[in-house]
Amino acid sequence: MAEEKDAAAAGNFVRDIITGHLDEARYSQVVTRFPPEPNGYLHIGHAKAICLDFGMAKEFGGRCHLRMDDTNPLTEETEYVEAIKRDIRWLGFDWGDHFYFASDRFDQFYDFAVQLINDGKAYVDSQTIDEIRENRGTVTQPGTPSPFRDRSADENLALLKRMRAGDFPDGAHVVRAKIDMSHPNMQMRDPLLYRIRHATHHRTGDDWCIYPMYDFAHCLTDAMEGVTHSLCTLEFENNRDIYDWVLEATGHTEPRTHQYEFARLEFTYTITSKRRLLRLVKEGHVSDWDDPRMPTLAGVRRRGIPAEAIVDFCARLGVSKANSVVDIAQFEHVVREHLNRSTPRVMAVLDPLKIIIDNYPTGQTELIKAPFFPEGDDPDAARLLPFSRELYIEREDFMEDPPKKFYRLAPGREVRLRWAYFITCVSVDKDADGNIVALHCTYDPDTSGGNAPDGRKVKATLHWVSAERGAAAPVRLYERLFNVEQPLAGDGDFIAALNPNSLKTVDAIVEPFLLQATPGTRFQFERKGYFISDTEDSAEGAPVFNRIVTLKDAWKRIQKRDDGAAKPKQPKKPKNKPSKQKKAPLNVDAARAEKSPELAARFDRFRTALKLSDEDAHMLTDNDARAAFFEAAIAAHSNPQGVANWINNELMATLKDQPIDSLPFNGTALGALVRLIDEGVISTRIAKTVLEKMLKGQGAPAAIVEKEGLKQLSSPEALHPILDQVFAANEAVVAQIRGGDARRRGFLMGQIMKASQGRANPQLVNQLLDARLIEAPTDEG
Ligand code: ATP
Ligand code: MG
Repeated sequence: MAEEKDAAAAGNFVRDIITGHLDEARYSQVVTRFPPEPNGYLHIGHAKAICLDFGMAKEFGGRCHLRMDDTNPLTEETEYVEAIKRDIRWLGFDWGDHFYFASDRFDQFYDFAVQLINDGKAYVDSQTIDEIRENRGTVTQPGTPSPFRDRSADENLALLKRMRAGDFPDGAHVVRAKIDMSHPNMQMRDPLLYRIRHATHHRTGDDWCIYPMYDFAHCLTDAMEGVTHSLCTLEFENNRDIYDWVLEATGHTEPRTHQYEFARLEFTYTITSKRRLLRLVKEGHVSDWDDPRMPTLAGVRRRGIPAEAIVDFCARLGVSKANSVVDIAQFEHVVREHLNRSTPRVMAVLDPLKIIIDNYPTGQTELIKAPFFPEGDDPDAARLLPFSRELYIEREDFMEDPPKKFYRLAPGREVRLRWAYFITCVSVDKDADGNIVALHCTYDPDTSGGNAPDGRKVKATLHWVSAERGAAAPVRLYERLFNVEQPLAGDGDFIAALNPNSLKTVDAIVEPFLLQATPGTRFQFERKGYFISDTEDSAEGAPVFNRIVTLKDAWKRIQKRDDGAAKPKQPKKPKNKPSKQKKAPLNVDAARAEKSPELAARFDRFRTALKLSDEDAHMLTDNDARAAFFEAAIAAHSNPQGVANWINNELMATLKDQPIDSLPFNGTALGALVRLIDEGVISTRIAKTVLEKMLKGQGAPAAIVEKEGLKQLSSPEALHPILDQVFAANEAVVAQIRGGDARRRGFLMGQIMKASQGRANPQLVNQLLDARLIEAPTDEG
């Protein structure tokens, strides 16, 4: 998908939201923030958030703050703060003067807690964490109010002061918001605002022994910094209610900051979790956070991946609310595109086999001018390549007894040496054990530059390096860090999923030019891949090379396969619709423009301003009613592509020949349906159920969802009871999975979806399953 979509065309619902706000002049300036917790190095997933936070601010002439979300004293370190800054700068983003620590506002958080207590909106609870959890209830049962819920403001304040003064041990008391113990969103059942932690903070030392919870500190920090759009990943969706509650309860009026959630970036063969990456470092599975195999930004930088490739990849990916795991091959494909354009081509032999050119004068060296960019148009971008009697070629480029399709060097066979001559193998030298140690060849002096004057052809061109003038250099051949697509699937033991062959170091022979390579310079080693001289381990005149990626593009292969026989299923289409052939719309539209200039103008606008494909735009402008329906829908919810998909795929299939205004609902209602999906209230699957009911005239989508209880379950609190029930009913299966039979996991997943009547958020179920099948349930906060 990636390259077909240019950056601007990739959907980004956040951009649409911000555009809407600027249109209505809600904010004078867009202010975003990137709020990492300094408990580890940033990873490639964070790049998506960084590109979005900084990118939106830049695009709309606003600003983006870099804020250390350092309210948890246990896990944070100054080393990480510096690494985070370095990585964001490397990606090309700048926070100007707006670098903040949440911990600088500890006094202010405290004052807000006092204010809430005075207003009767918060209280000190003295139940244990376990009691609090038990009394929170379930999705189907309301929680039980704490016996301490009705303490007077004076009593609460006195306790809070003593908490702060250090009179109590960890866990003795917490501060909770007084919201609603039977709230349908379980997060709203009196969430924790403060807890006691006798721990030294990386910046405030021992000044505090109570620390604010994320839900309390984050929204207040956003508000105090003047943030307008607080962008975070989907797992915070159910925290949005608290975000709004805290801000309203503390008197932050509109226009104030709001939270918007987008889908995380995850890759196959990769883990993106600082906590788990820390384990790889601590247990020595990798050399450090910047090991070139690590998915950290420091790791991929050292590996040689250009920052521009990452930013470009994120732009092409777009921003949506649909969680998915991206094929890492797709990312590597974009990396190759960037490297192919920018890296000079040179020669290195990774597994050297010596050849002796018997008819080349001993002691002679000629220098061949060889271009760095064979397809480029700058002939001066070149180096001088020494050619001599003894050379190295790649061992795999020779076979003594070649099978039919092997076209490279073999006894009696002629091949071309890149930029140099044709050579023919005449004999093979072997050691006592029969191993090939060298080849004897002859060269044809008339083929200088790689062409024979008589026009004879050879089937292969080999890379090579002069034995006299080349030099040895260690080259590190990296492969994926994990062997399996989803290192956390199965029993979640990602250590067992590590690829034992992820690093292989070979002694290569490189052309002399490479010895002068400045650390951090990238090259294409002809026929072998893209490499960079390592920034840490290279010494002057003694480079060490890292393989960035091979030349083989798995993603291209995947695409080819998908374009061929195994085409993915197309959505159902009625027969009378225009075909999906590329050219059809354009021809038809010439005729249409004559018939209705108005529809032709809409067609243009849908394609250009709304960035729909020709065929989508064409279908939507088939007649006035349809175009008007679409326009009403996007007025109700500004996601043109999402709305177009529902009209063109779902509604058209249902309508067959009937006009769109024969439907029992209008465009606004369809927009509202798409909004419910984009906001994560319902899944796409459930949306189809809702649409069926809308088609039967059962009312507006939100009302249907409410009446039928179709809301997506996307909080852990909502899902845990269902998991409890399914785990209890399937003890044997659970034991099998824990015993290593990962295949049974799908069954469990199916049972959970069934028990939730299809309403469970599958991504979250997966995460919860990971946690349950691997680790003990995590602690509060
Ligand atoms: P981790 O689990 O790796 O520690 P986190 O979410 O705890 O990740 P934070 O430091 O809190 O890490 O994240 C900073 C910002 O980056 C947050 O806004 C978070 O939503 C976002 N973010 C984290 N991981 C991803 C990801 N995989 N894709 C996109 N955004 C992410
Ligand atoms: Mg976090």
